[in-house]
Amino acid sequence: MSKAVFLNDVHAGLSGALVAGVHYPESVTEVRSLVRQAGRRGWTISVCGGRHSMGGQGFGEGCEVMDLREMNQVVSLDVTKKLVRVAAGMQWPGLIDALRGSGSGLTIRQKQTGADEMTIGGAVAVNMHGRGLGMAPFIDDLEELQVVIADGSLLRCSRDENMDLFSRVVGGYGCFGIVVEVTLRLVPLRNYRRDVTMISADRVVHWLTSQQKKGGIYGDFQFQIDPADEGFLRDGISACYFPDENGGEHPDFSRERPELDSGRIEKLLALAHSNPGEAFRQYTAHYSATDGCHYTGDEMQLSAYPTGYHARMEGCSSGSEMISELYVPRSRLEDFLGYAAVFLRQQRAQVIYGTVRLIERDAESALAWARQPWACIVFNLHVDHSRAGLDKARREFRGLIDLALQQGGTFYLTYHRWATRRQLLQAYPQLPQWLERQSEQDPEKIWGSDWLRNLRETLAKMPRQWAKITPQRDWHGAF
Ligand SMILES: Cc1cc2nc3c(=O)[nH]c(=O)nc-3n(C[C@H](O)[C@H](O)[C@H](O)COP(=O)(O)OP(=O)(O)OC[C@H]3O[C@@H](n4cnc5c(N)ncnc54)[C@H](O)[C@@H]3O)c2cc1C
Repeated sequence: MSKAVFLNDVHAGLSGALVAGVHYPESVTEVRSLVRQAGRRGWTISVCGGRHSMGGQGFGEGCEVMDLREMNQVVSLDVTKKLVRVAAGMQWPGLIDALRGSGSGLTIRQKQTGADEMTIGGAVAVNMHGRGLGMAPFIDDLEELQVVIADGSLLRCSRDENMDLFSRVVGGYGCFGIVVEVTLRLVPLRNYRRDVTMISADRVVHWLTSQQKKGGIYGDFQFQIDPADEGFLRDGISACYFPDENGGEHPDFSRERPELDSGRIEKLLALAHSNPGEAFRQYTAHYSATDGCHYTGDEMQLSAYPTGYHARMEGCSSGSEMISELYVPRSRLEDFLGYAAVFLRQQRAQVIYGTVRLIERDAESALAWARQPWACIVFNLHVDHSRAGLDKARREFRGLIDLALQQGGTFYLTYHRWATRRQLLQAYPQLPQWLERQSEQDPEKIWGSDWLRNLRETLAKMPRQWAKITPQRDWHGAF
């Protein structure tokens, strides 16, 4: 029996929707039966995991939501082939623990940074990426998927079987079916040494690629967030991780190095709101103190996230942060950050943190965002939830997208849904065809979310220049 519930995303809290009901299936059979029921009863189904996407991708007004987090076990592990098969509602900490516990000496290759309670199904559906050097998005780590499609059938899809579905489901935001199981490629669990360097934006791409050539496997750059500082978005700190073999031993390195636990992260986040210069100073001091420290390849990818921190913050509990990821050709990174610094200062935007990473090309997914090797710029901006604050945020995020597009870049669809029709089409020229395909594969409109609805409505809008020349009255009479 469904019961209407109000759902919202974890980080921004700006995509709330009154859904018709939430279901927590525990097996593939249950998922299939719910999808068949949806067909008979005319339900629209949304699927969600950890609810970290922020544009209503995982739920929608009036939808029946399938939250897959009860399906969270390892199905099988093939140590020889370095493959693990997991239920799609499994979250990263559970998978990492299970792999440690297996004694296989294997672990995941990449996961998102900044938070851990995200599902493997959610990672597939947005085609996520971590901070690997020389790594393409998540599709590259996937061997096979088990997907329940709109008529309730279960399909296996991979590069050899149902390839078209595979390429649409990965990065498909739950609009082509429910991923119930994921077979993931693993890597050996190794120890890493962290090398930390203060550096400026003009050298970042060269620095990270040279670290990769020297054997670095992971790396990123965090930039100055204080607009009053002349190094705003320019100066920063880079951390790269080099394999450091230690006879197969993986001791608890945490005893010998300074740690950033959830409590300290929360304090730094609060400081970034009140005194960004000091927050950045303390952050870089912490990072610098970890230069040369050791990490195991799994724990190094975990990052504590102080859920609900904004509500505990004095003076700005009515707001939250919103993230955006912009991608530009690597040769344009410095220009992009220079223009972004001018723009964000003009707008009096509040940058809470910002990172640069490198991403390799994804030549396989249908709605690929990594259509060439990019420099990826992540901005986490404060958003006041008043009407004026939301208008300001919309301007800021649209402005950042325009700056990336002007440099020949694009942006990630996982976050807000403030992009305009023009921005969506310029960044994702394949979108109209992608939506057409979605309608063909889902003629009964089983799959839906506020994000999908918004995408269809935005793309259906008449371009503004046509609207201007369109007579407002006597339209029919004009012909
Ligand atoms: C603090 C923070 C840090 C982040 N860092 C990164 C990062 O470093 N790199 C990065 O790439 N992204 C990052 N993200 C975005 C994140 O990767 C996505 O939001 C991801 O989808 C989260 O997984 P989830 O389980 O919360 O999915 P949800 O938000 O619940 O769902 C996201 C999408 O996946 C679909 N979906 C979920 N489960 C399934 C399933 N089983 N089958 C089919 N579709 C499904 C949903 O319908 C929805 O469209 C970050 C987000 C936050 C809030």
